[in-house]
Amino acid sequence: MRDATFCPADLTTFCRPDDLGLKTVGQQLRPDHAVLLCRVLDPDGWCHACGCLGVPRDGVLRRLAHVPLGRRATILHVRIRRYGCSGCGQVWRQDTGRLRRGRNSRRRR
Ligand SMILES: [Zn+2]
Repeated sequence: MRDATFCPADLTTFCRPDDLGLKTVGQQLRPDHAVLLCRVLDPDGWCHACGCLGVPRDGVLRRLAHVPLGRRATILHVRIRRYGCSGCGQVWRQDTGRLRRGRNSRRRR
């Protein structure tokens, strides 16, 4: 063995969705494509209007194309939380700005 330095297997590190502010929490491998289930790293749980703590209500799922792994197309399923403010009642989704910026930078390459 040349190099005995290994770290635990980690899909987030291997597939790089952390560049988009995501953490991989699950996978589905199919013969022609792979699906990675991801969560947004930044919780964004404080109200943007009044600053009170938000309560998680539900979430939405966004499907995005990702960089292929080998010959397999890779699709990201991103769970985005929705919060309700405990003070003013406003509802918002987690900030996915890094996700948008990452997609735009990939388009320019
Ligand atoms: Zn509020």
